Amino acid sequence: MALKKIILFGGTFDPIHLGHTTVAASTAEFLCAEKVIFIPAKRSPLKSFPPSASDIDRLEMIKLAIAGHEIFEASNCELKRLAPSYTLETVRQFQVEYGSEYSIYWLVGADSIDELSRWHEITDLIDECNLAVMYRAGFDKPDFTGYEEHWGRGRIEKLQRNIIPTPLIDINSTDIRKGLAAGQDVAQVLHPSVVSYIHRHGLYKANPTKSSD
Ligand code: ATP
Repeated sequence: MALKKIILFGGTFDPIHLGHTTVAASTAEFLCAEKVIFIPAKRSPLKSFPPSASDIDRLEMIKLAIAGHEIFEASNCELKRLAPSYTLETVRQFQVEYGSEYSIYWLVGADSIDELSRWHEITDLIDECNLAVMYRAGFDKPDFTGYEEHWGRGRIEKLQRNIIPTPLIDINSTDIRKGLAAGQDVAQVLHPSVVSYIHRHGLYKANPTKSSD
């Protein structure tokens, strides 16, 4: 019998935007997955600065953005651990929780390809889950053929099979944070409840003592 599919979608989500939810929905449909679980990272091991919004605010914004999407869930499992969060640990935790009937997918955008070789125990991660790479506006279509000598043919074939042709949505959190700090209207790229939350809690305001990221 075919395995059921669970998609884990990790990220900083600082804040979550319509790009995230659109590509997650598209991937779930493409893979016929049962669920997408959004997992905010405490802090990305590869980002040089911590998230701007707090763990609680980022998680709350995710919950607001996914409310009403039947197959979307949020998990605070990485926020409960000490930073930085390692994907392999999270994948193993969900594989144990869901059991052998389920196949775990870990979703990333094409912008992450070049940094994958610096991920913690990347070869184990490729082996133990389906690392699924989505298209992303402004980046080349995912292609792993140049990595064969690092990771071996079997892993490259698996990565190539798990490329997801998502729609190109030109939205990113960095521009949203900059826009908000500059007092611009960014409502068209965020869920309306996330916009209200940001304003209600005074998030992403310009801070003269901090860099604009
Ligand atoms: P930032 O600008 O702060 O780096 P981001 O918009 O890239 O943020 P993240 O929370 O870092 O958002 O992204 C989580 C995951 O979602 C990453 O794997 C990223 O590649 C992917 N992603 C984010 N936005 C998009 C998008 N518009 N299309 C496809 N993938 C995306």
